[in-house]
Amino acid sequence: MVPSAYVHIPFCDSICAYCDFVRIQKNESFFSSWKEKLIQEIQEYKISSLHTLYFGGGTPSLLSVDDFVSIRNCFPKDIEEFTVECNPESLDEDKLNAYVALGVNRISLGVQSFKDDLLKVCRRTHTASQAISVIENIKKSSISTFSIDLIFGLPNQTMEDVKKDISTFLSLDIPHLSIYSLQIEENSIFGKTGVESCDSDLEADMFEYITKTLEAAGYIHYEISSFCKPGHYSKHNLAYWQDKDFYGFGCGASGRINGIRYDNTTSLKEYCSNGPCPVYIDETLAERGMDAIMMALRTKFGLNIREWNLKYQSDFKEHYAQVLDKYREYFCFEGECIYLKDAGLEILNTILVDFMLIE
Ligand code: SF4
Repeated sequence: MVPSAYVHIPFCDSICAYCDFVRIQKNESFFSSWKEKLIQEIQEYKISSLHTLYFGGGTPSLLSVDDFVSIRNCFPKDIEEFTVECNPESLDEDKLNAYVALGVNRISLGVQSFKDDLLKVCRRTHTASQAISVIENIKKSSISTFSIDLIFGLPNQTMEDVKKDISTFLSLDIPHLSIYSLQIEENSIFGKTGVESCDSDLEADMFEYITKTLEAAGYIHYEISSFCKPGHYSKHNLAYWQDKDFYGFGCGASGRINGIRYDNTTSLKEYCSNGPCPVYIDETLAERGMDAIMMALRTKFGLNIREWNLKYQSDFKEHYAQVLDKYREYFCFEGECIYLKDAGLEILNTILVDFMLIE
């Protein structure tokens, strides 16, 4: 059984300055054929049970409740964790209540910053006070858990700004935070207008401040970019990090079935005419094993060595002895698992490059 499904809703009201995801300003001429193809794509799998479902984007909260219902009804009724990504400007109380009635039990809210001038720089269309009022509404609703996204390393963002964002986050008593450092993507508005990346030392200081402050406040730093109160892990994201299969539905989605990854077309025009047109990624067993290591080492749960050895028909400790020795002070072994200490997570990419260099 494939335990998880991701549905990509590629529409946005406007385009944020840092974004290079597969998204398009909502366009009525494409919408009905997109919806028809999406429903067809999902129904072909006749899914009878699912552990986690995630509507991401784009901006899923832009969908009308009727459109949301017709996509949601392609999935089983009972789903342990059902997350919808929302933006503050498109999540009102009526929509929130409709989500609850449809089994949504987790919201991921794109806040990005609590400072209005930084939101403007990012071309976000909401204000900080709008985000706070949506957060209060979510807390009053019967949504059982939720997360917000914040970005750091934005143009002209100071350490003081980051401190204020984290202090506002803590004052709002939010169960989960996903935090991203700004990456200037070539195809984003920032990339095309020559915006430069934040100074790397300042960015590292910001990350260290965020990590220490949240841990001191009782949050668990369970994945490199994710913090939660006990019991509020993102089960859906854990499925990715723990090497599980997942369906990817919609234009721009990726999935993995029986260990084989695929990418659907990123062209809305092609999707609306011909459906998902998935391209299957031809990976050897060793390459899949490497993918599993890269994902698992992002988390505090690490990699289960015995399971990995069985699944990828190799001997992890023997095969990667050189890397394990080189970074021995950064690794921890516990039972059958290996994971990175905090200092190791700070140099995760460097360590992963060394793993990848092993044939
Ligand atoms: S960041 Fe999110 S809301 Fe903004 S353009 Fe990208 S997908 Fe749309």
